[in-house]
Formats: sequence, structure tokens, C-alpha cells
Amino acid sequence: MRAVVLDAEGRPRLEEVPPPAGPTMRVLACGLCGSDVEKLEHGPAGTVLGHEVVARRADGARVALIHHLPCGACPRCRAGHETTCDSFAAPTIVPGGFAEEVEVTDGVQLPDSCDDARGTYVEPLACVLRGAERVPHGVILVVGHGFIGRLFAAVLRRRGDEVFVSDARPERTGPAPDGPVDAAVLCAPAAPLEGVAAGGTVLVFAAAGQFDLEDVYRRELTLVGSRSATPRHLAEAVALLPELDLPASTVLPLERFAEGLELYRSGRALKVVFTP
Ligand SMILES: [Zn+2]
Ligand SMILES: [Zn+2]
Repeated sequence: MRAVVLDAEGRPRLEEVPPPAGPTMRVLACGLCGSDVEKLEHGPAGTVLGHEVVARRADGARVALIHHLPCGACPRCRAGHETTCDSFAAPTIVPGGFAEEVEVTDGVQLPDSCDDARGTYVEPLACVLRGAERVPHGVILVVGHGFIGRLFAAVLRRRGDEVFVSDARPERTGPAPDGPVDAAVLCAPAAPLEGVAAGGTVLVFAAAGQFDLEDVYRRELTLVGSRSATPRHLAEAVALLPELDLPASTVLPLERFAEGLELYRSGRALKVVFTP
């Protein structure tokens, strides 16, 4: 089968590779995530990236694949930190989504109204829904207005928050809030935290750079982290997806992976989805 495989320098190349040994599912679409882009140049040779996957089950149903599974029983799972569970690190999508076939694995069924490309939004939206649970209601600044920032803005507005957005790219930035905000969501490295009101909350949702902990102490800020999603959030994302107004994706065949990567990196495409 064809798959996009990292070479010894971590560069992605479309190659012919053996399909998984056991029963497989046909990949219909796979979204390119910022975390995939981070892994380029780092991953060991032979890595197949891609975890925002829509595939077809043997019974014909289209499913958004569950990309990692917490055990659900350990103390960290029970405390709501499922993505730090020891079981969570094991990949469930083998070899990875930028391929024609993957090993049979669990997924959440998509309604017919949701096309394949839109179905790849289920995984990132699930991550955002889990993060949003840690953000109090109120006036919220979303830092980083790429695809993930837009998902956050849509989810927070839908639940009734007043949302402002900022981005290092001027064309993606919105009007600044007229006063301190109740919470900030960091989808990109943040400016200092002085825009967050005393007693406010900062959700760290990306590699976010350095904080002045003095600020956390003096102004009693709450710092919370959230990373990835659980099967419950994936199911919630499938249900919510039709109700959100989200950016369209650029859909390209796997042969045009390098072009899609460049569109994403340059900011000309907010979201790129590949179809095998
Ligand atoms: Zn992702
Ligand atoms: Zn666990």
C-alpha cells in the first residue's frame, strides 16, 4: 500500500510499504495536525504520522478512529487526567493515518451528513471539548487563531462566552479585549499573562513558552493543562460537529503531501486533509 513515511532525516515521502499483517480498514481521509508537523524531522525513520482519521469499517460504516485509549481504571484516569494514563501512549492507529490501510481499531460512527474531510475534525474538536471543560465561563482570550484556535472560539461562543482572539499573524488577529479577561486559552506561545484578570485561569493547550510564576503567585492565577482527548470527548465531538460553523479544509490526495504541508506551514491553508 502507499503511505507517507518519514525518512532517516525525518522528511515525509510517499512510499510503497507492506500493509498491516492482520485485518485492516480502508482510510478515507486524514487531517494534518500541528502536532504532526512538530514531529517531522524528529520521528524515527519509517514513522507514519496522522491521527485525525476517518476509515471504513468492515460493515461499511464510516468511523472517526480513536487515536489513543486510556485504561479508565487507574488513579490518573479516575482523576480526569486520562491522557497521562500509562496505557494512553500506546498508538491505536497502526501504522498511522497517512496510509491507504490501517489495522482494525475502534472508532466513533459518523452520520451520513458528515463528509469524510469534516469527519477528520472529530479528533481535534474532541481535544478542544476536553480543554474547554477546564476553562471557566466569562470573557475569554484565545491565543493562536489557527484551526485549533477557531475550534476553541466556536465551542466557547456556543456555550455563551464572550471570546476574543489574537495571533502572531496580524491577518488572523481580532479586536483586543477592552479590559482584563477571565481566562486565556493558549493554542500558541503566549504573550505575558497581564491580560488575564487577577484570579483568572490560563489553559495551556500547546507548547506555550515561559511563564512568570511571580504573576501566578501575586495575582492568584490558575494554570491548567489539557492535551489530547478521550473516547467520551470523541463521541461528544461527533454530536456537536453539525452545529458548529468551522473553517473549510483544503483536501488533497496523499501524492500531494509536500504541497499540503507547505500550504499549512505558510498559513495559506488553515486545515489540510489528505485522502489516499
Ligand atoms: Zn491532532
Ligand atoms: Zn488509566
